[in-house]
Amino acid sequence: MRLDKGMSTLAEHAEKLFIQYLRENNLKVTRERLALLGEIFSTKEHLDADDLLARMRAHKKKVSRATVYRTLDLLVQCGLVRKSRLGQEHYFYEKVQPGKRHEHLICTHCGKVIEFWDPEIDERQRQICLEHGFRPSFYSMQIRGLCSDCQKLEHESTFLEAH
Ligand SMILES: [Zn+2]
Ligand SMILES: [Zn+2]
Repeated sequence: MRLDKGMSTLAEHAEKLFIQYLRENNLKVTRERLALLGEIFSTKEHLDADDLLARMRAHKKKVSRATVYRTLDLLVQCGLVRKSRLGQEHYFYEKVQPGKRHEHLICTHCGKVIEFWDPEIDERQRQICLEHGFRPSFYSMQIRGLCSDCQKLEHESTFLEAH
């Protein structure tokens, strides 16, 4: 019995699309590729390539680093996975959920990623493109700073230093 029905349906659908994409591009449908997709679709987290490699290995799935990178590229190309540069030199991957767009707040201290979505910002951007006769193909917004927990720590540590 499946408890999280919504999640598994999304994962199953994604797998179907990925297999179709691989076949159309004459690429092999391998167990490793499907396992990596499953790994990304089983979590809400934003993971980098090393996290994914570690998770695959923890689940006893043998896969090389090269395969992880290559498969991530394919998943991004076929639109099932979103790649965002959240850290300085760091790319994170997450599943794409149709109709659930979001942007990111990134804590530069603890690395926490908070997702948000604001239809007004979205609408303003659409208008700005329109005003410039611009056809957008990619858009990403992120705000970096300190999360509320880290701000508290910051206060505590300055408090300690001052007293
Ligand atoms: Zn933080
Ligand atoms: Zn996200």
